[in-house]
Amino acid sequence: MAGRNFLFVPGPTNTPDRILRAMHIAMEDHRSSSFPSLAAPVLEDLKQIFKTTKGQTYIFPASGTGAWEAALSNTLSPGDRVLAGRFGQFSHLWIDMAQRLGLRVDILDAEWGEGAPIERYQEALAADKQHEIKAVLFTHNETATGVTSDAAGARKALNDAKHPALLMVDGVSSIGSIDFRMDEWGVDCAVTGSQKGLMLPAGLGLLAVSPKAAALYESAKLPRVFFDLGDMRKANATGYFPYTPSLPLLYGLRESLAMLFEEGLDNVIARHHRLAEGTRAAVKAWGLELCAKEPRWYSDTVSAILVPPGVNGAEVIDIAYRRYNLALGAGLARMAGKLFRIGHLGDLNECMLLGGIAGAEMAMLDAGIKIKAGSGVGAAQELWRKSSTPLEQRDLPPRAPDAQPAAAPAKEKATAGAGR
Ligand SMILES: *Cc1c(COP(=O)(O)O)cnc(C)c1O
Repeated sequence: MAGRNFLFVPGPTNTPDRILRAMHIAMEDHRSSSFPSLAAPVLEDLKQIFKTTKGQTYIFPASGTGAWEAALSNTLSPGDRVLAGRFGQFSHLWIDMAQRLGLRVDILDAEWGEGAPIERYQEALAADKQHEIKAVLFTHNETATGVTSDAAGARKALNDAKHPALLMVDGVSSIGSIDFRMDEWGVDCAVTGSQKGLMLPAGLGLLAVSPKAAALYESAKLPRVFFDLGDMRKANATGYFPYTPSLPLLYGLRESLAMLFEEGLDNVIARHHRLAEGTRAAVKAWGLELCAKEPRWYSDTVSAILVPPGVNGAEVIDIAYRRYNLALGAGLARMAGKLFRIGHLGDLNECMLLGGIAGAEMAMLDAGIKIKAGSGVGAAQELWRKSSTPLEQRDLPPRAPDAQPAAAPAKEKATAGAGR
């Protein structure tokens, strides 16, 4: 098949060639004396992605789901009460995990498409005079509905109620792409994964833990083995892991962090916002609605686009894949068939996203949705043209160190050709 697959699901995202090359390595001994010079700086640099200096970072050979489990099982005990908003499939699944681990979850249900109900968090915390609630679970970016919630607001709700519960934030589809500030917002456990903003394959569950949450490790009685932070901390202290880490993913993570720091995390976040604004301009031009009900909740990493009644969103996705080699995100659980999602996070620029938007237009037209061909593309182009700034000066890549100097062109002899 000619051309590339256009990957516009909100994770896994496109892995840049530079990261692919960094991961393309022969395996090494993860107990060698040089291994810590790979692992230790990566663990340290990762803190910048969470915006923490006080917290400790952890890397599990797992996915985001594993980091969820690590956060809960290292800080809480069976029967503990936790407070959690539910407004999409990911916030639902974290609650489901907490229940299956034996926690009692006070669920604040909100409509899918709304953000976390901060006022209700606040009321529930204020009403909990005995401080029975031990943790607040907060899904910063609900990937299923394209909704970003006010994580700083969750901290404020805890502070206003003078409540000591931990603040645990799922930032799997926000950290590294949408503004996230662990220390400033007083986040105790921050969870992410490798395959979204970090542009890597799935396979790493990443967690940052505040000193306050770390102090609960000894008293927390939930069973844990693979995700035991004590084992991990002990091994990490010398630059090693308690079991076999994924070497390619560690090399990839090192490269991913280098790329994010070279662009500048704040520039990365601004780029995501600009790309998201263009996508939203396209949706508006199509005459369609986002699942996110209010602009304050619009996600800069994923847009969930409602299809008109009578159309199956899954068909749009299937046509896009079969006819145009374009992968769009599906509607999950109760949103199945009602929407499709465009992931606009990770290694992405305007022209790539225009391809995704154009392909979505073709698939929607094929599925019978009455939009005007080119309308979304045109709206995104207009928005980006108005806000574009010149890219950085690019130099030619340096020559490979072992490259031979090119042979000097043979000088023509003065006599050459004489007599012809
Ligand atoms: C992707 C995602 C997860 C799950 O992560 P996995 O890596 O698939 O385990 C959890 N929460 C959110 C918000 C996500 O987007």
